[in-house]
This record gives sequence, C-alpha cells and structure tokens, in this order.
Amino acid sequence: MQRSLISLAVMALLGLSAGAPTLVAAAPAAKVTQVTTQLPRTAVPTHYAVSLTPDAANSSFSASVTIALDVKQATSSLTLNAADLKFSAAAISAGPGKPQQAASKTDIDADKQTVTFHFADTLKPGSYQLKLDYTGVIGTQASGLFSLDYDNGGAKKRALYTQFENSDARRMIPSWDEPFYKATFALEATVPAGQMAVSNMPVSSTTKLADGRELVRFATSPKMSTYLLFFGLGEFDRATAVQDGVELGVITQKGALGQAQFALDSSRDVLKEYNDYFGVKYPLPKLDNIAAPGRSQFFSAMENWGAIFTFENSILLDPRVATQSDKEVSFLVAAHEMAHQWFGDLVTMAWWDDLWLNEGFASWMESRTTTRLHPEWNWELRAVGTREGAMEQDALATTHPIVQHIATVEQASQAFDNITYSKGESVIRMLENYVGEEGWRAGVRSYIAKHAYGNTVSDDLWREVEKAAHKPVTAIAHDFTLQPGVPLIRVADAVCKDGKTTIQLTQGEFSKDKENKKPLSWRVPVIAQTVGGATVRTVVSGGKASMTLPGCGAVLVNAGQSGYYRTLYTDKAFGALAKGFATMPTIDQLGLLSDSWALGMAGLMPASSFLDLANSAPVDAAPQVWQKIAGVLAGLHDSYEGKPEQRAALDRFARARLAPVFARIGWTAAKDEAAPVANLRETLIRVLGEVGDDSVIAEARRRYAASATDKSAMPAALRRPILSVIAASADAATWDQMRAAAKAEQSNMIKAQMYDLLGSASDKAQAQRALDLALTDEPGATAGASIISHVASNHPDLAFDFAISHRDQIDKIVDGASRSRYFPGLGGRSADPAMIGKLQAYARQYLPADAQGDTKQAIAAIEYRIKVRTKRLPQIDAWLKQHAG
Ligand SMILES: [Zn+2]
Repeated sequence: MQRSLISLAVMALLGLSAGAPTLVAAAPAAKVTQVTTQLPRTAVPTHYAVSLTPDAANSSFSASVTIALDVKQATSSLTLNAADLKFSAAAISAGPGKPQQAASKTDIDADKQTVTFHFADTLKPGSYQLKLDYTGVIGTQASGLFSLDYDNGGAKKRALYTQFENSDARRMIPSWDEPFYKATFALEATVPAGQMAVSNMPVSSTTKLADGRELVRFATSPKMSTYLLFFGLGEFDRATAVQDGVELGVITQKGALGQAQFALDSSRDVLKEYNDYFGVKYPLPKLDNIAAPGRSQFFSAMENWGAIFTFENSILLDPRVATQSDKEVSFLVAAHEMAHQWFGDLVTMAWWDDLWLNEGFASWMESRTTTRLHPEWNWELRAVGTREGAMEQDALATTHPIVQHIATVEQASQAFDNITYSKGESVIRMLENYVGEEGWRAGVRSYIAKHAYGNTVSDDLWREVEKAAHKPVTAIAHDFTLQPGVPLIRVADAVCKDGKTTIQLTQGEFSKDKENKKPLSWRVPVIAQTVGGATVRTVVSGGKASMTLPGCGAVLVNAGQSGYYRTLYTDKAFGALAKGFATMPTIDQLGLLSDSWALGMAGLMPASSFLDLANSAPVDAAPQVWQKIAGVLAGLHDSYEGKPEQRAALDRFARARLAPVFARIGWTAAKDEAAPVANLRETLIRVLGEVGDDSVIAEARRRYAASATDKSAMPAALRRPILSVIAASADAATWDQMRAAAKAEQSNMIKAQMYDLLGSASDKAQAQRALDLALTDEPGATAGASIISHVASNHPDLAFDFAISHRDQIDKIVDGASRSRYFPGLGGRSADPAMIGKLQAYARQYLPADAQGDTKQAIAAIEYRIKVRTKRLPQIDAWLKQHAG
C-alpha cells in the first residue's frame, strides 16, 4: 500500500520531512472496537470459489462462497472472519456429491468480526467444502466493497472497487482473513451488460444471461493472502501494452485514457527492471493498474496482485494541471506497488508484526527504481528527506521498533506509519550499502525464490542476505529493527598527523523529549572522509570507535548519507564543514542541513546553526538544497504564529535568501530545464507567497486574474502554486469565486484539488466556511475529510474542535482503515497546550487502549513544538537581529 500521497507530495516539495502522525490523516470517530485477529488454527482454507452479484444502485450485494478447507483437529465448529455480512445458508460436506450437513447454529460476533458455524456431527480431520450464502453492504469509503460516484461528461456514474488491506476482505467474503492463510481464488460476478469487470486474473469466460446481465468468470488466482483479492466494476476504458509476455493495463473511467500513457509506459519500464532484479519473473498473465476517482485519507494505492488500485490523482496526468511532481508521484507509486507484486504478494509477511517487510522494502525499491530509471530527477537525494521523516517520529519517546508486536486489527492499521515505511526504507538503504549492492541483490533473489507463494518473518530475509553477501548483517539488522530510536554519533576533535586524520566516535542516542535517556546500543555502520578525500568504513560497536582518514581538513561523517543516525560535531569541526559547504556533494549538504536543524531544535547545537548554513549557501546551490532551506523557513514561519514582530524578522530573512534564487529561475521554465528546477519553482512561489514577498504575490494575482480570459497566464506547471498563493490569502469574495470554479469544474480530479484549496485560507472566517462546506454533499463523498485536513494545516484547533462537534458526520466521510488516526492528525498540528488535554479527553472517551498510538504521538509532537517555541525561537530571534541587513 502507498500511504496517502496528497500531503506527502506537498511536504516533499517543500523539502520538509513527511512527518509523523500529523500528515497521514484518517478515520472516523465511532467507538473503535477491539478485534481479536488470531483465528483458531483448527482448519486451513485452500480454495475459495466466490460468486458475487453486486447491486450498485442499492449499495448492497448478494453472494455465495464455497471454501475448500482442511480440518486439522477434530472440531464441531468453524470460526472465520466476517464483518457486516448476513448469512442465509451454511452447510459443509466432504466434497462434491457427498452428504451435506447444515450448520446447526450460526454465531456472529460483530466486535471480533467473526462468524462461527456449529455442526451437530464432529468434523474429523480431513478435507471439506463449506458453502455459505450471504448478503453484504457496499460502502462509500474505501474499505471492503465500496462505490465511488463521479461525473463523466456531465452524466452521474457509479463504479465499484474493493480495498481489503489490512483486514477488510471479511466485508465481502467470509474468510480466514489473515495473511498467513494463503489460498487460491476463483471469482465470478453477475454484472450489468456494458460494464467492465476487473479482478486479479484475466476474464476466462463471459456468458449472457436471460435477463440481459452477464456472468463474468475470472481465471483462478495463484495461492495468495485474502487482503490481495480485488474486484472492480464500472464503465471503464483500458489501455494495454505487452512486456516480457505479460499484458499490462491501465484502466480509467471512460474517456480518460489520454491521461494514462505515462503510467502505462512506467509499468513497462518497471516490470522489465523487476523481472531482472528479482530473478523470478512476474508470475501472473496480466497486471492492471486501476485508476479510480476520489481519494482516501489513508492511502493512495494498493498492490492487489495483478490488479493494482490507484486513486487517479496519483497515477493519471491531466495535461491541463499536471506538474513535474505529479509525474514523479505517478512513477514512484507504480514502482512501489509493482515491487509489492514480489515483496508482499508472492512472498508475504506471516503476520502484521513484519509489515515492514512489505512496506519498507517496497519504499526502498520505489526509490531505487526511480533513481535508476529517471536519473534526471536526482531521486537519490530524496533519501535524506525520507530519513528525516522517519527520525522525526523515531526520536520521540512514543516511537516503536520497526518489527513490533501487533495483536489487533486496529494496531495493524496504525502500523502503516513513518517507522514502517520511511525508517524501513532508510535501514534497508544502510544495510544494502553495508553488504554491497551485488550481495544484497543475491540475498533478495534467493529469499524470493525460496519463499515464493509462502509467508516469512524478517529473519528469513537476513539469513539469505547474510549467506549471499558473507557479511554479519543480521546483528546490525536486529539492532535497527528490533529496538526503537535514533543513534547519535558524536565526533571528537580530529587530530591530523602525517597527512592522516584520526577521529574518535562515540555512540549515544538522539532523543527529542527524553534529555537524560540512557542510550540504547547499536552496531552502527559508519562511512567518513576528510572532505574530498577517500572514504573509510567502520562499524561503531560497543559504543565507540576510532577511525583514521586519509588527508587533512574538515571531517565529514556519514559521507553519502546512507547511515541511519545523526552526527554531532564539535563547534570547531562544524565550523570547518560550514566553511566548505559550497564544495560538498549535494547529498552531504542536505545531510548537514538536516542534522544541524534537528540537533539545533533539540538543544544539542546552537538553534541558529541551520541559519548559518542557509546564510552561506550559494544562490546557485542545487535546487534540492534550496528546497530544503525554503521548507525549513516555511516551517519556522508557522512556528512564529502569534508573534508578529519576530515573524516579520524571519520573513525578511527568508525573502532576502529566497528571492534571489527565484529571480534566477523565474516564472517561466527555460528550455531543457532540469526537472528539479521545476519543483523548486513550485516551492518558491508557495513559500515566498507565505513569507510575504510582494512581487510574487502581485504576479500570482495578476496571472490568476488574467487566466479568466488567457489560459497561458496560468500554465499547468504554475497553476497549483499560483492557486495556493491566491487561496492562502483569499478574502470572502475570492473564496466565493474559487468555490464557484470548483463547483463548475467537470474533471473530478481537478475538482478535488480545488475544494482542497478552499480549505487552505489563512483567514479564519474563510477557513470556517470551508469546514461547513466539507460536511455538505457539494464536494463529493471522499472530498470532505480532505478539506478539513487542509484547514487543519493553518488552523488545527479550529479544525479539531469543529470535527469533534460533528463526530457523527465525520464518521461517514472518513475511511475506516485506520480508525483512530484522523482526529489526532488534525489536532496534532497545534502548538496550543490546551490541545493536549483535548486529545487526551478524546482518546479516553472514544478509543480503546490498542488504538491510542497516534494520539500519543500527536501529543508528543505538540509538546515538542511548544518546547521549540519557548526554548529555541529566542535563539533564532537573537540570530536574526544580529544578521538583520
Ligand atoms: Zn506499500
């Protein structure tokens, strides 16, 4: 699964870490039920034959399933997962033609999401067929079988899709709905004529029925986990291509295939790359990517085997609005979901404890593949931002290890976080770098070959990599995956003698909220150099190490930034690095900026160290460096909320540094401009607008006004940043104008973007209007929650209070996959101490103990933000005063 990318992409553009719980919003306010997820292991399913008849108009379906299963221990009952299903018949037999025994009693446990069928005659160990007839509901948010409504050329349409990860297959099929229970699936569906039905496997037959409907049968799937099954139905178009004998498809609503070409090309390139990398060819005959209108607060895309599901804003490129960053998102989401076809679908974690085996690996593979296949995007530089996103959460006491014990469905949903994705990715990057690219790939290949169609735990991977690479990777991997937190490497003053520099390293722990914490111990692979000199490697073990580096001069630790740790230099050593900042490789500039910012805010370095670097960065530094600087300055601007005088000083500094950079790149893209420059332009327009650059604001307004009659005033590449500036400063009249445009917009994708913008107003009165609008039918069923999240980015307290007072309505517009995340996501952006009490009260009243993780993280983030405001901002103020030009 790819997490919701709408906010992630914006943050990446701003050079901000895609931080913790505040950004990955989701889920309703209903009392969350504690679900026991471990089914009794008395029986094991081997095959499901499912017959489905959806009734889209009435949001319901009827179905029957015949489950082939092996009873392992004699039993008089069978318990499987089911949620919101009503059973009309249940019977078991020893096989086709054998006598049937109807269930004597059916017990539904709604809280546990199980159904138990009791039988008068004990079932002895052996093979059986369980046949069930039942009905269920079609929801409006992405879990189970759900519908999405949209406009197509002025006509109202409804399409159906499924979303089952982590535990919602049980909403469509009574099943052993845990990743360990792999089985084959044969699906058939009775559907209206003229609609396209899609599943994991190709259609094997279509039969016209007497009533005009069609019976569509799909080929039997390979052995797989329930959460990977997919079914879609609607008036679709499909574009296809063939690569390595596999039919690749992109499926859209009617008339949108023109926006799918880039995605189709990407799929071809990525399939070729993966068939080679994994050494095991993609095993299904086809691979579709289904683009769906609407959105989820929880995810952007899902890796159903052979039938990837992606919300259209993360895959399609509409030439009227698509930017460089949209293109990057489209590619990387495809690369992520396709990596899952092996890591996750072919080889699956045994239980959610090892979710990171899916997500950390797919995230790493997505970055690796994007870097390789689109070298012009410099994606390798994003590694630093990804690591920052992980550390932001990982340095708080509320963090957790990458591999963690999951007991309930709710905990499984909460596991889709920055630790699982971004720390997982960063740790894999470090380990690959440690064992070497070849050894790592050989290990991965043998892991995939050995466990194909099976289930694994993390140690299965370490075993194969260690064997293939002949390096003791398991011990290091355990240190970083079984314990939480961020190592801190302190570099003691370097001694230079005979053209060699000796440094002493000691390992501590970087914590943002536990100042006197006794550090955990890690074996840390470290790469160091004197700047420009040859790199030297060591593993810091037992808390310390000494290194001798060729050459004299400034010492750089974590050269290349593959290490998952922070580096703390002495003032003198940092000063030497800052002096040579302009000559360092871009990735190390980003590493130094990130470390100095985080360490400064935590009080381990002067808070102004980052500003020293920002002040000395040359105007022609890499776009990614300016993106990072702009992102931090925008964050600082937010931190000065309520302090107009100090904010004005910061804004002056930000304009003085950023305006000359923007002047170099201008409003119009140069011919053959490098892709990262386009991203920087987008960021600078937004940030300069935010810090009050009059000429940028005036030009944005001029172009916005002119665009009413002259489309070229606001080309696709500039459209979003310009509208962001306009929306942020919107008064009532402008807000009304933007709303009218949103309402009139024909494209669902553009419409959703425009409604989000209405939530971005700085003015409180307009923000309140956006909140009220979010709960009406006007923006569409999946847009309301997103509008409220956008309001929360400027007005977290307003948005949280509003959401709490409309809990029942919010419940209906947020998808349930992460039941406890949405409210902490809104309030977690606050810097008001009162919000801590509000979040605690919310958790006490509405969340069971297993669902409070996100709330605790949100509270920790607020506490840290308050500490930064009171303790660090005065240092920033003093620095700004001293450097006022
Ligand atoms: Zn994923």
